[in-house]
Parts: sequence; C-alpha cells; structure tokens
Amino acid sequence: MSEPCCAEVIVELPVARTDQVYHYTVPPSLRQLVKTGIRVQVPFGPRRLPGYVVGFSPPPPGIVLKEILGVLDAVPAFTEELYRLARWLGERYLCTTWEALQCIAAPRRAARERETVVLAAVGAAEEAARVLGRAPKQARAWEAARAEPGLTRAQLAARAGVSSGVVDALLRRGLLVPVKQALRRDPYPGRATGRPAAGPRLTAAQAHAVREIAQAVAARRQEIFLLWGVTGSGKTEVYLHGIARALARGRQAVVTVPEIALTAELVEVFKRRFGEQVAVLHSRLGSGERHDEWQRVADGRATVVLGARSAVFAPVADLGLVVVDEEHESSYKQEEDPKYHTREVALARAKLAGAPVVLGSATPSLESFARAVAARSYRLLTLPHRIDGRPLPEVDIVDLRKEHRAGNPHVLSRRLQAAIRERLARREQVILFLNRRGFATVILCRECGLVLECPHCAITLTYHRGGTVRCHYCNYQARVPQVCPACGSAELRHFGTGTQRVEEEVRRLFPEAGVVRVDADTATRRRALEHLLGAFRAQQANIMVGTQMIAKGLNLPQVTLVGVVCADTTLFLPDFRAAERTFQLLTQVAGRAGRGDVPGEVLIQTHVPEHYSIAAARQHDYEAFFTKEIALRRRLGYPPFAALARIIFKGALPGEVREAAENFKRFLAGAAAVEILGPAPAPVARIKDQFRWQLVLKSNRAGVLGEVCRQGYAEFARTFRKRVTVSIDMDPQRMF
Ligand code: ADP
Ligand code: ZN
Ligand code: ZN
Repeated sequence: MSEPCCAEVIVELPVARTDQVYHYTVPPSLRQLVKTGIRVQVPFGPRRLPGYVVGFSPPPPGIVLKEILGVLDAVPAFTEELYRLARWLGERYLCTTWEALQCIAAPRRAARERETVVLAAVGAAEEAARVLGRAPKQARAWEAARAEPGLTRAQLAARAGVSSGVVDALLRRGLLVPVKQALRRDPYPGRATGRPAAGPRLTAAQAHAVREIAQAVAARRQEIFLLWGVTGSGKTEVYLHGIARALARGRQAVVTVPEIALTAELVEVFKRRFGEQVAVLHSRLGSGERHDEWQRVADGRATVVLGARSAVFAPVADLGLVVVDEEHESSYKQEEDPKYHTREVALARAKLAGAPVVLGSATPSLESFARAVAARSYRLLTLPHRIDGRPLPEVDIVDLRKEHRAGNPHVLSRRLQAAIRERLARREQVILFLNRRGFATVILCRECGLVLECPHCAITLTYHRGGTVRCHYCNYQARVPQVCPACGSAELRHFGTGTQRVEEEVRRLFPEAGVVRVDADTATRRRALEHLLGAFRAQQANIMVGTQMIAKGLNLPQVTLVGVVCADTTLFLPDFRAAERTFQLLTQVAGRAGRGDVPGEVLIQTHVPEHYSIAAARQHDYEAFFTKEIALRRRLGYPPFAALARIIFKGALPGEVREAAENFKRFLAGAAAVEILGPAPAPVARIKDQFRWQLVLKSNRAGVLGEVCRQGYAEFARTFRKRVTVSIDMDPQRMF
C-alpha cells in the first residue's frame, strides 16, 4: 500500500461562498471507513463542522494538518461521478459545490414518525484513548461505534457487550453523537407482481428506435436521441426496451418524468416489467421513504430509478441509459437555487458516465428539435402514428367572440355543451381543461374600478368558492369584504373563470353527471390526487375538470371528448415562450382523447382562433408550429439562438432594490458579446412583501454569459452592503 494520503474535505461555511477544499489526515482507525462521499466531522478553527470527503491527495508540504474527528455515516453520500456532477452544477448554475451537493447527497434522515437514533463516534483516537484510559468498557463501545457507524443505542451496547448505561456515558462525554435515521418504508407498496411481464410486439417504428438505442447502449456511446412520437404512439414501450438492454449488461437506468402526479401510473407500468428492481425518487415522498429508496439504489438492489427532478441525481454505480420523458416540460426547471434544468443535468451526467440519453416528447422543446434537425447533434427517432392505427383526435375550434355575440353568457359554448351531452348519453368520459384554479380571477368594484390585490404581492386576488379570496403567489387568504375598501360601495363583482366555476356550471347543466375536479386545491397531497384519478378511472365520475395537472401523460381509454375551456390563459403571458407553452399544452391535453377504441374529439374555446399556435395545434402540426416559431426566435435573438440569464434582486425597500440592480449592471458594463436589458421592475414587482427588480442578459455565447455573471456577482457581493438578495437564473424558463 502506498503512503497514506490526506483527505480533501469540503465544509459548510455559510458566510464565505467558496469552493475551498481543506486537507485533513486520516487516523489509522478510520482508514477503512473514510472514502469519497463520506460525511465526516472535522476541527475547523475552534469549531467542529460537518463536511464531505471529496478526494485524496498527497499532503501539501509545510503544513501541519489536523485529523478527521469521526465518521458520521456508514455509507458514502455520493459517488465520485456525482461529485464531478456537483462541480459541473456549480460552474453551470453559479452555486457552490456545497450547495450543489445538497441536491445530490443522500437525503438526510429526518422523518417525524417511526424514526430511530443511531450513533456515530467522534474525537481523535488519541483523545479518546486518554479520556477512556480508565474506562475500558466505554473504550470498547467507542471502538465498536467507530468501526460500525449507524448502530442504535441498544445495538451498540449488544455489539460491544456493555450495558446501555455505558453508551450513555459516551454520549454525555460527546464522544458519541446521535444521528437521526428513519425506519424503512415503501412508497408504492404492493404494486409489483411476482414475475416481470413481457411487453407487446413492437411496431416497426418502435423496433427501429429500440435498435438504434440498443446499439448506443451496447457501445457505451454517449449519444443523444430525440424520440419524437405523437401522443399515444408508444414511447414508453421504447424506453422499457432500451432500459432492458442496459440492465442486461449489468448497468442501471434513470428515468425522469416532469410531474410527480404522473409517477403512480408509470410506476405500475415499470414494476410490471421490472419488478422490485424499480425505485422511485421524488420530493413528495416521506423523508423515510426517500431515504430507503435512495439506499436501495446506492447498494445496487434497485437498478431502474424513476422519478421527478431529483431522480437525475440517483446514486447508481454504472449508468447505462438516461431517459427524460416529456423533455419539453418547464417543470423540469428547479425554481429554487440552484436553478438547474433537469434535462441539462441529465445530459451532463450521461456525458460523465459515457451513457446514451433518450429525450422523449410529442412536442419537443424548440431547443431540442433545433439540435436534432438543424445542427444534427441529436439523433431524431420518430414515431409518427398512434398504436393500432388509432387516429389522432379530431380538433375543432370554438370562437368565443361569436359565442358572446350570440348572447351566451356561460363558460361552456353551446357546441361544447352538446358534445358533452352526447358523451354522457353514450356513457363515455369527458375532460374539461382550464389552466386556472379558483372560482373567478378578479374582484372588481363597479363604482370606482378598484381591483382587489394581495397586500403582500403585486398580484390580483383570486376568488374562491365559499367567500374567500386567495393569493396564488403567497397563499394569503381573507374573507371577501362586504364593501369596497376604497369607496365603500357594495358593488363588488367577480370576473374571469377558474376551475371551480367550470365545475359549478357543469353540475348545474348536467346534474345527473358525476364530476371530479383536479387542481392544486383538491389534490394537495399525492394520495388525494391518486384517489381522484382512481375514482375517475373506475368510472365513478363522467367528467373531470382540471388544470395542467391533468394535461399530460394520463392514459384514460374511456375519455372520448376533451374540452379546452379557454386556450388563451397561457397565450398572453409576458414570456417569449408563451406561444410554445400554449401549443404544447393544447397538444398534450388533446392527446388525452381517443386513446381507447372509440375515436376522440377535442374542442378548443378561444378568442383568437387565428393565432398560429392554436391553428397548428388544431392540425396536430408540430413542424408548422416549429417553422413559424423558430423564425421568430431567430429574428428576436431568443433561445436557441442566444443564451439568457435573469438576475433577480429582492428586498424590503424598493429604492435599495433598484440601486442594487443598477449597481450590478455597472459591473457588467463593457462585457463583450453580452446584451443587457434593464434594470426594470420584475413583471410581478412584489412577492411576499419583497420588491423585485431584474436584469436580463442575452448572449450568443453561452460560456461567456456564465463567466460575466460570475464576475459581476463577485464584484457586487464584495462592494454592495445593503440588504438585497440576488438570485441568478441561467437559462430561465419563466420570464415573469
Ligand atoms: P405515449 O407515451 O407515446 O403517449 P404510451 O407509451 O402511453 O404512448 O402508449 C399508448 C398505449 O399503447 C399504452 O396503453 C401502451 O401500453 C400501448 N402500446 C405501446 N406499444 C404497443 C405495441 N407495440 N402494441 C400494442 N400496444 C402498445
Ligand atoms: Zn370602489
Ligand atoms: Zn400574495
């Protein structure tokens, strides 16, 4: 064995945002335990801090190193590869490695119920020997805890052959520290069948796609496939076959889905195929469940990882394939720091592992499709038809302007009402989609024109059934006032339509129908959502009213009619992706219709039937939409033709926030190849009593943009002393 190296450790230093690595020696008694990714306790000045071991190197000359005090967990919190991914995240999204590791490292054990306390030994061996010199039983217990971290009090006492009082004495002396750990739980119990089922016979298009992917898997070729398949074309089956090839070679696969809501259905499909090898990772799991699933992946019992954003960090040892389903989804962007995009992380990870990636969608993001058709850096695989030759649903437009002129004051046009009635008579199911929850979107005084706003945010309050108003940004709630707070008039009226109002109207028009509503108000928890979907699937209801929660992924063969109550909600948002979002959303919702034996119909209600994203959705014509939209992006210099960064300034005093933004801009001035827009108040200029300003940076050189932001931030942080927080969003997915 070579001369012992010293360990490189990063510690959490809340003040200094640095990536400094510190060196410590490893005492002989810990040598078996200290590996990359292990959480340790180290002396740091007068303090003891937790840290992660990130590597080993020869001791730097001329420095007296301190010793690692103890090992806090028995197993590493991340692998070598994931550490490199953390470094990449730091570079790409301008966060520290420590912050990146918070997304990546093993989930901390903090379950409330059913938790147990395990013990870890701390202190240098010499110190312990001195303290414990005359307490041989304690010394024995301490050695046992050090050799095997993660035992409970009783387990440790038994292992060392001492009473639990001896263990308590070590706890009092601070030579043992308690670490909380949750007990094992399975988030999706009883869903696996005994033996894995075989899939259906592949169609020619599926077989071609699988062949291409299988070759890349076999050759460990770092290739990116864009699987562009219309809704219902059997993309999932292609994923399953690709994954099976990776597993057959003893490797693992990671599959991300955009919406936690959709995982339950997919988990069943995956467990039917791969049985207990499937692990599920997403943030809505209980912390105990998450920890256990993570552990099953880390020790190799689970080889297929399915989940939302965080699944991309799954601790698999030998990544064979990554699948990003619905790659265009904006929910793949993490909205808190670090603001990473799951698809981009998946690509970076696959590159580190030398594994192929499959990006799947019926409506690929402009970025991905451009890379596939123009730059040809992605390989395009196409599934142009639905399974079994099922037709795509007939899509028709209802012009709401004509409807108003004809004197129909209702939310549902006469045409949509008639179509619903027809489906109810045939005992088929209906989905009504509206991307807005609540009852009405504004409350307005008819005397003075006042619109009720949230007292903490610059946003109108939404009226909810039962006489309350709510802020959809900060969740502020209040009773609706009796009279106008400005002029005292009693003429307060509500306007605009949310899902509650659609539900009410449907119940009034079709009293015999069963109705379920699925939105953030009814499906607050994962189980509530699964329950609502289950009831609908079991035909206990005929009509489902919902927000974008129900737009994607659901496979409900009895649904033959989809009504889009108003397509315009997303179209006029202050965001250059508004048209893309609208097209994607309409195509996705339309895709819920006619997935069974009876052909489907879709009715889109809108005030702007001539808009190109609505016209293209009507024709199921992705390419027409792409051609039009990509030309606009090119002309305006938006992604994929330029990289963007959005720098948001937040603070309690509007003057200071503005000053901060102006200051920051000065540090950016003179940067070549970067265009700076602003500073300007953010589109929502106040949230939770925090005023918001923003700068938007544009550049046709992505690498330059990151560097400019990093330097600007460093200068700003060094000089600006007022209480304003700065958050940098590289590749923002929301501009409002
Ligand atoms: P997509 O994800 O492209 O919208 P799905 O993967 O949900 O489509 O497939 C739609 C339906 O077709 C599913 O019920 C699936 O089980 C079924 N299916 C997929 N491939 C085949 C096939 N080769 N033969 C028969 N049925 C298939
Ligand atoms: Zn008024
Ligand atoms: Zn608010």
